[in-house]
Amino acid sequence: MNSYDYQLFVIGGGSGGVRAARIASSLGARTAIAESHRYGGTCVIRGCVPKKLLVYAAHFAEDFADANGFGWSVPPVEFSWPKLIAAKDGEISRLSGLYEDNLVGSNVSILHGSARLVDPHTVVVDGQRITAEHILIATGGTPFMPTIPGIGHAITSNEIFDLPELPRRVLVVGGGYIAVEFAGILNGMGAKVTLGYRGDQVLRGFDVDIRAHLQAEMIKKGISVLLRQNVAKIEKLPDGSLRVDFADSAAPTIKVDAVLYATGRLPNTQGLGLEALGVAMDSSGGVKVDAFGKTNIDSVHAVGDVTNRITLTPVAIREGAALAQTLFGLAPVTADLTTVPSAVFSQPPVGTVGLTEERALSQYGEIDVYTSRFKNMRHSLSGRDERTLMKLIVDSASQRVLGAHMVGTDAPEIIQGLAIAIRMGATKADFDATVALHPSAAEEFVTMRDKVVKRQGGLICT
Ligand code: NDP
Repeated sequence: MNSYDYQLFVIGGGSGGVRAARIASSLGARTAIAESHRYGGTCVIRGCVPKKLLVYAAHFAEDFADANGFGWSVPPVEFSWPKLIAAKDGEISRLSGLYEDNLVGSNVSILHGSARLVDPHTVVVDGQRITAEHILIATGGTPFMPTIPGIGHAITSNEIFDLPELPRRVLVVGGGYIAVEFAGILNGMGAKVTLGYRGDQVLRGFDVDIRAHLQAEMIKKGISVLLRQNVAKIEKLPDGSLRVDFADSAAPTIKVDAVLYATGRLPNTQGLGLEALGVAMDSSGGVKVDAFGKTNIDSVHAVGDVTNRITLTPVAIREGAALAQTLFGLAPVTADLTTVPSAVFSQPPVGTVGLTEERALSQYGEIDVYTSRFKNMRHSLSGRDERTLMKLIVDSASQRVLGAHMVGTDAPEIIQGLAIAIRMGATKADFDATVALHPSAAEEFVTMRDKVVKRQGGLICT
């Protein structure tokens, strides 16, 4: 037994840190973990979980409206934001407690407090020095806001979950995951939502058709989308509302009750003592690690959002597990991230796995693209003008399916299943040979027959 207090000391009780701590302990390592806020991290406390609960809540507005087409007479309904937030808080407390219970049950020592590294084997937590053979930094990320006059009046995804009341008029700034998700949530709950994005189309980096389709659906639902706009200034007016001016003088000045900035996140590396220790970081403050999660200092490791790579919860969990196995298991392992599906819980939601059309073209030169746009059966009676988009990207040469993308009801649920097939190397013929599940929207993925062949530099034939 070595002379350190612990074999692994984890800083950060979010998804990656907790997974690493529990697996290390199960492999026999003496393990401790410190968290300065509440156990559960961004995902559980102020990210994926409360967001998804709010997405469910927002969707009821459409469900009530659609019910009429199915014979229901829905009496006037009312929405209570405080009631929803209280229910959400109860669930988050339950989950956070569960995280702590699971750590205790896994024999991990848990600390509440901020940890700082003082040497490659020592951390200080609230004045207490603790030594460890290995130290894992799993401190996640924090919202980034650009510096503009009046930015102090804006809120981020950290604050939105705890607002005492639903703002009546909201400007959401950004065009990424959080911006489109909250634009949908707030719009569904009845707020007047404007989305202000500096680019041409929301969700940069996603498949081009997915971006266009989602943006059109958001506009149909009543969200006002202002493109190619940067906020110049936010001013608080005597009546408590906020006046927002855009840099483009032709853009309208708008008056809202809240401005939500969703302009990306930065790694949480401040105050950890990393600079003094000489831990290498990238220009955004992300901790640089090798394929096994090791930093340039042998005993210091990092996983999850703090490494500024793929900032998704399941990825952090994978990385945490791989690190624990590398340090205390039989052989070093890396997190297998060959096909990482992801979802945007917009309204309607997006599900995606594998390569976009643009990426596939640049990597494979020639691809077959299958696209299907249709009205979901539900809307034959609901009367709602919402359309679903499905897209498959296939390598022309090998016929391997390289990517599957969808905007529409249940897209995340459907894409998770397809991710297995795509990871296994399924070909278009495998998709075609799979019997359809009828009637479903998902069956469209196995019945697509009309292809467009695309080659880098130009279209060939349909
Ligand atoms: P994203 O990186 O997804 O989007 C940031 C957006 O802000 C982009 O549209 C970007 O524009 C814009 N932006 C960046 N800087 C500025 C600026 N200075 N002024 C104006 N606009 C700016 O970040 P999010 O904050 O939405 O989310 C952070 C990450 O969290 C995501 O990338 C994702 O990994 C994760 N996440 C995952 C979710 C999920 O799985 N469903 C849900 C929420 C978050 P441009 O496109 O021009 O760069």
